[in-house]
Amino acid sequence: MRQLSTQDADFDNQLTQLLAFETVNDAELLHAVDDIIAQVRADGDSVVLALTQQFDQHPATTMQELELSKEALADAFANLDENVKTALTTAATRVQTFHERQVQETWQYEDELGNRLGQKVTPLDRVGIYVPGGLASYPSSVLMNAIPAKVAGVTEVIMVVPAPKGVLNPLVLAAAHLAQVDRVFTIGGAQAVAALAYGTETIPAVDKITGPGNKYVAAAKRAVFGQVGIDMIAGPSEVLVYAEGEAQDRADWLAMDLLSQAEHDRIAQAIFVTTSEEQLKEVELEIERALAELPKADIARDSLQNRGALILVKDRSEGMALINRIAPEHLELSVDNPDALLDDIRHAGAIFMGRHTPEAIGDYCAGPNHVLPTSGTARFSSPLGVYDFQKKSSIIYCSESGSKPLAKTADILARREDLEAHARSARYRYQ
Ligand code: NAD
Repeated sequence: MRQLSTQDADFDNQLTQLLAFETVNDAELLHAVDDIIAQVRADGDSVVLALTQQFDQHPATTMQELELSKEALADAFANLDENVKTALTTAATRVQTFHERQVQETWQYEDELGNRLGQKVTPLDRVGIYVPGGLASYPSSVLMNAIPAKVAGVTEVIMVVPAPKGVLNPLVLAAAHLAQVDRVFTIGGAQAVAALAYGTETIPAVDKITGPGNKYVAAAKRAVFGQVGIDMIAGPSEVLVYAEGEAQDRADWLAMDLLSQAEHDRIAQAIFVTTSEEQLKEVELEIERALAELPKADIARDSLQNRGALILVKDRSEGMALINRIAPEHLELSVDNPDALLDDIRHAGAIFMGRHTPEAIGDYCAGPNHVLPTSGTARFSSPLGVYDFQKKSSIIYCSESGSKPLAKTADILARREDLEAHARSARYRYQ
């Protein structure tokens, strides 16, 4: 695994190389995705069915077979083992409770002239949630997308999830039941995104598409943006674990936190940053030890080889500057007093505070959303939330007397813009 130090002469270059990642800019990929979208727009259901047979080896011969009934979802939930049912319900309840705090309400205030101004908050009518399912299945992603939408008051939530060879993890269906998803289609990739964006004979067009997926999904979301809203373009998952070699640190815990990210994907990124050279070596040893017996060691090893790093910083302030430069999706602060660092962290998708808060808890059941900005986009964006499923309209009410001074101001500015009808429209209100 690569080791870097901020003292290296070419540290900047090495860091830039480590972070370089473009998800959706490969011309061949963009061409393939544009082609799929155009076909779905032109021929609807028949193309979605054919591509689902081709890419997912789904045995369905009609579109109707690609929709799951509400009974199938309820049965999947009812048939879960009791301990799994309890765990899923606990996760769902905690995600719901957290997201209920994000609901934004309509607000108005009265200005000094007696006019009222504000914003009306309205949930979206219909949204599509993409739940990845090509290589692995993600019941937690169902909860993380559907619950905020439902809490926002979205009228209809349509879920798409690919089912390779027609097989789906029952936990995904159970989660859809628990989160009260309205309709589920077993389709995936760019064809699912296109179907949701433009609608087909069977699949209704939605107003916004959220949720992570592979490069085909990410490229398709980017391509349909404008026709529909999207939450973000998700890249591969990342974690940055920060420690300062304190007595309470456990190298095996730190190593496993890094591996929990690396086992996701060969292009996932796990970075360890520490002020202690000794700790850096201990963590490296523990990673090797754990890799010897982890079931997904192959994937984790590739991920650490490709995109992982152990980075030595001089002191805490260098550590904080590096974190802000990387703007990680997940940041773990494995220190005695994480609150002391919080003010200095400006860019991170989720901040896991202290050594008893591994990312794994946040991934499933802490409550906050696990759909987070990746690839440095935490510089300008936020976790998926209820606010992604609400929109605002401005409210402007002028009283008869409050309108007059504003009409005079508008009249003057409209004439300077040579917009005479604007000027007269305003003037009628005060003359
Ligand atoms: P996926 O559902 O994203 O993609 C599967 C689909 O890709 C298939 O249905 C198919 O339509 C399409 N596809 C595959 N090969 C194709 C080809 N050659 N041409 C056209 N289309 C093709 O599932 P996945 O592949 O398992 O990827 C899931 C991704 O989501 C992973 O990168 C994972 O790390 C990520 N993920 C992120 C989060 C998060 O919260 N950030 C959560 C879960 C998963």
